[in-house]
Amino acid sequence: MKYPKKVKNYCPKCKKHTEHTVKQSKNKTRGKAHPNSQSNKRKDRHKRGYGGHGKYSKPAVSKKPTQKVDLRLLCSECKKMQTKKGFRVKKFELV
Ligand SMILES: [Zn+2]
Repeated sequence: MKYPKKVKNYCPKCKKHTEHTVKQSKNKTRGKAHPNSQSNKRKDRHKRGYGGHGKYSKPAVSKKPTQKVDLRLLCSECKKMQTKKGFRVKKFELV
């Protein structure tokens, strides 16, 4: 998907439509839990000894085919940044 670098958008601070510059923010990937976190301790306790591992025997959730794109809009008048809700596209390009 191609997206223009400058768009006219409503700015809640200026209370009118102004020109915004578009920036793509990097998606934050969820980090791993700390090795000593409560959830990891629970997992370790569950995996000890005999028997199945219950819900911990499930394979990790597979990645989605598309990643969400997050856009930041910077108002050219008041320089306030606002976030546009993420949407899913395979390819994203700022033109
Ligand atoms: Zn503004």
